[in-house]
Amino acid sequence: MGNEFIKNIKYLFNCLLEVIYSDNRGCVVCNEYVSENKILCTVCLGKIKKCRGCFEIHKENLNIKCYSATYYSYIIKRLILNLKYKSDFKAGEVLAKYMLETIENNKMKFDIITYVPLTKQSIKKRGYNQGRYLAKFIGDKTNKKVYRILKKCKQTKDQIGLSKEERWNNLKGSFQFINLKYFQNKNILIVDDVITTGATGFYCAKTLIKNGAKNVVILSAAKSSI
Ligand SMILES: [Zn+2]
Repeated sequence: MGNEFIKNIKYLFNCLLEVIYSDNRGCVVCNEYVSENKILCTVCLGKIKKCRGCFEIHKENLNIKCYSATYYSYIIKRLILNLKYKSDFKAGEVLAKYMLETIENNKMKFDIITYVPLTKQSIKKRGYNQGRYLAKFIGDKTNKKVYRILKKCKQTKDQIGLSKEERWNNLKGSFQFINLKYFQNKNILIVDDVITTGATGFYCAKTLIKNGAKNVVILSAAKSSI
């Protein structure tokens, strides 16, 4: 009787999955045919441009090293939007794999991973933090622990439409640390989806460095210009 019940539940669950994924057969960008378990066609995949090397943000007597896996484009935008607003974790996986490649190619070293936090209101709206998803994926593959050590204490304006200076001012003082014990004297990797001015990553890094982190590097899925 119990077994039968579980079997029925499993059957219903599989039916539900089929309904959810039945329209998920084309490329997420151009709807072209894709082979099984892929979400991008070979043409769109070939258009993704990888970033090489790193760049530094110099500000307030700090130098923060940043790495980006790819250059922001409409294909990357589609993947990020799908992850952010449609909980499309396959899109997230594609991004996270590029980020893992960046870690390997640059022999990036770190002890723990964290991610750019969202405010409680944003999480309520979206259900989860897309940066946390990317961080968890990377943590799993690199065998590093992912900790929530930062919180966003200020609901900031949407960065879109703001000038470079306004973006920096908008984010100043919006991050605080939590769980001090996890990052003291540690080399930390901060994961983000897109770096534009670098203001978000910088203020997260600054909060950790000023409170005892040994070193902080930032890794984003994509790098964009305003
Ligand atoms: Zn395509």
